[in-house]
Amino acid sequence: MKNFLEINADLHMHGLYSGAVSSRMTPSTIAEQAPLKGLQLLGTADILHRKWINLVKEQLSQGEDEAILEHKNGTKFLLQTEVEDSNRIHHIIFIPSFSKVEELREKFKTKCKNLDSDGRPKIWLNSEELAEACIESGCMLGFAHAFTPYFGILAKYDSYKDAYKSQASNIHFLELGLSADTNMADRILELHNLTFLSNSDAHSPWPNKLGREFNTLKLKEISWQELKRAIQRKDSRGCILNVGFNPLEGRYHKTRCRGCLTFFEPKEASELGWRCPKCKNIIKKGVDFRIEELADLPLGKHPSHRPPYKHIIPLSEIIALAIGIKNSWSQKVQDLWQQYVNKFGSEIKVLLETDLKELSELSPKIAEYISYFRNEKIKYVPGGAGVYGSLLKPGEKAEDKIKKFKQTQKSLTEF
Ligand SMILES: [Zn+2]
Ligand SMILES: [Zn+2]
Repeated sequence: MKNFLEINADLHMHGLYSGAVSSRMTPSTIAEQAPLKGLQLLGTADILHRKWINLVKEQLSQGEDEAILEHKNGTKFLLQTEVEDSNRIHHIIFIPSFSKVEELREKFKTKCKNLDSDGRPKIWLNSEELAEACIESGCMLGFAHAFTPYFGILAKYDSYKDAYKSQASNIHFLELGLSADTNMADRILELHNLTFLSNSDAHSPWPNKLGREFNTLKLKEISWQELKRAIQRKDSRGCILNVGFNPLEGRYHKTRCRGCLTFFEPKEASELGWRCPKCKNIIKKGVDFRIEELADLPLGKHPSHRPPYKHIIPLSEIIALAIGIKNSWSQKVQDLWQQYVNKFGSEIKVLLETDLKELSELSPKIAEYISYFRNEKIKYVPGGAGVYGSLLKPGEKAEDKIKKFKQTQKSLTEF
């Protein structure tokens, strides 16, 4: 009998043929960066795209399990893509083999104009038809960044079942997205049956993006059958930890004007017809408010299978904050980052596992900030309207950093 493995998996990202993606986003660069972050399994990204398929086959090798590929450094990949349906909803698909990849390409050929020009293709099928086509081909399908405006299923529908209709019972997972976490999503009762995944949706391979959200999966080996059991929570397999942004950092967390970035109370925004009185631009509904609209429960009720959710901050951002440098890409920050990863094995180990005493051997100041982070003492300017939230230095107040529609309003100060 094999023992259980616990692996860190990031199952949604994009390759260089998707829009706004770094040209360095190749399978081998992803594979080289993964162990520095502490990830053992990644999604292949964009696997319906012909040139990307060729690159994946060139840079990774196929093993016994047809769904899994491996880089020479041991990093594994699961055949995966994201697609957009005819209602502009995004779905994540896991595929059991390259022959099924070809089967899907064949099915989508007449329903898609950009299969070979965009890594994330637009398929002219609705959610139900798309799910049916994928499930019939033996794939797993779930919805991406569930609540985000524009492309999240629950931004458009009050129930995911209204979108998937006859296929709803075949949906076993959702992806939380950067603007939501388990505490928020479990306020909606119909989601209690689903496994929550937290993935990066990374567009560049560097460790502040790759694995900025990830899942710890418990399974016997990295194989299609074991991953399927983990996602369906069968035979003691499952997702045992979700790790990701504090939702405040997400780009769509709060209700905010797209033009002048003023924050609004959702009630105010609604009274104003979702138009900003200052700059006339559109006010974008925040994910926190969308969940409030859909919620059946107050915070804090989870089904018994739900794993904990840990908030994470990229190590480079903690280092930058600790040494008082604004830009986490500066050489000084990157050098320190490298020292930590070399000494302690991976970014995830530094952030979540290594003893603080050991961390302070390199720098007591940085260790102190890692401790702030672990104790959730770091505060944020929240994100909204497509702009990420940002970290505050200790002592800094969010109120001093944000523009609110009415400075007297109360609930926005409770960040
Ligand atoms: Zn998407
Ligand atoms: Zn405005």
